[in-house]
Amino acid sequence: MFKRVPEPFKIKMVEPLKIKSREERIKALEAAGYNPFLLDSDDVYIDLLTDSGTGAMSDYQWSGLMLGDESYAGSKNYRNLKETVEDLFGYSYALPVHQGRGAEKVLFPCLIKEKGQFVLGNMHFDTTKAHIELNGARAVNLVTEKAFDTATPYDWKGNFDLDKLESFIKEHKPENVAFILITVTCNSAGGQPVSMANIRAVSEIAKKYNIRVFFDAARFAENAYFIKQRENEYKDKSIREIVKEMFSYADGFTMSAKKDAIVNIGGLIGIKDDEDLYNDASSRIVPYEGFITYGGLAGRDMECLARGLEEGIDEDYLHYRISQVAYLGHRLIEGGIPIQTPTGGHAVFVDAKKLLPHIPYYQFPAQVLVNALYIESGVRAVEIGSFMLGRDPETGEQLESPLELMRLTIPRRVYTNDHMDVVADALIAIKDKAKDLKGLEFTYEPKVLRHFTARLRPIE
Ligand SMILES: *Cc1c(COP(=O)(O)O)cnc(C)c1O
Repeated sequence: MFKRVPEPFKIKMVEPLKIKSREERIKALEAAGYNPFLLDSDDVYIDLLTDSGTGAMSDYQWSGLMLGDESYAGSKNYRNLKETVEDLFGYSYALPVHQGRGAEKVLFPCLIKEKGQFVLGNMHFDTTKAHIELNGARAVNLVTEKAFDTATPYDWKGNFDLDKLESFIKEHKPENVAFILITVTCNSAGGQPVSMANIRAVSEIAKKYNIRVFFDAARFAENAYFIKQRENEYKDKSIREIVKEMFSYADGFTMSAKKDAIVNIGGLIGIKDDEDLYNDASSRIVPYEGFITYGGLAGRDMECLARGLEEGIDEDYLHYRISQVAYLGHRLIEGGIPIQTPTGGHAVFVDAKKLLPHIPYYQFPAQVLVNALYIESGVRAVEIGSFMLGRDPETGEQLESPLELMRLTIPRRVYTNDHMDVVADALIAIKDKAKDLKGLEFTYEPKVLRHFTARLRPIE
């Protein structure tokens, strides 16, 4: 029996949800060009598009809003945030930014010194890859092959393949590697964790070749929780201790605070002790994001962020959080739905290639499944597959993604396990009619990042 973990909070304020009829949903989806990104949120019942900025702040965070010190420079809230970063991560420098990609835009040019350099990652997030490429560098993914075998469970599907990492450095010369970026948890592989042993080993390899290491730290707390659960020597350590040790192996981080720090907008750059790097980043943050003590955030936002960082590492909360994702995964497995196993920190990834084997990659099976789920239940998910991947920039050919996934992303502290049941029941109902679902073709295909605004239609 799966043990459900009850919510370690009670609900003080509610946001009513309207459930539209199936007929209304069919019309809404058609009007949205079979692309749920273009749906109005009012047409959605349970929104699992993303866990980014969609979390519910606590009463303690909301009360922090009232304590905003809106001074242009040196606000009290900035000092609280900086102290929290020192305390949690052991880093001397903190720079607030408006969200994760703001951190990438400011920090990456300080690290990429020449065009054609490489940035080595387990698996780079899409905006991260874009910022690496905008600076003329090349983003390389070196995640373990085990990540691509969705049916076989493995505890650390976010880990670097260490042999691949070291061979790559040797083959391409250490001076051509701008830096190493460890994404925790590894979002693109299914919110899969990186072990402490792997983090340590990556940092040892980096030291040997004199390369700097950074974290893409959006889900640092969920990763720390997995370390505590799965890595024996950490089972008696607190999340706080685990986080401290993780970050001791790196030189700095970029962070989207819209994830584990449970704010609706915000981000951070953290730098351990490199004063030159801090000065370099500071001089770039002013024109792009704002003065070094606010970086595009209001004082009140920084207060919520400082408080959210602390709440995000609360072990009772993390236990409930990860268990809720696992519960949805458990219901789906029980119902015969193929998913990435084990479930990750923030989402359940459904293997659409397995569920819809009659739909080829160029007709976007995972997008077909996303649409079917919306019509069945009003649940909005997102495609992570060939539709998102796009075309080869040189030949214009549609690329084939190694995985065709539908991501069910769970916002933090927002939905109950009953909502999870709605999602699971809907998918299980779709399974029986899966063979009747039809592939999709474009009616409008934008050139860049097409999946956000493209329009499609079912192929008759
Ligand atoms: C969300 C995210 C980002 C980008 O952050 P934004 O706040 O959306 O700009 C970068 N890396 C990872 C791993 C993310 O999940």
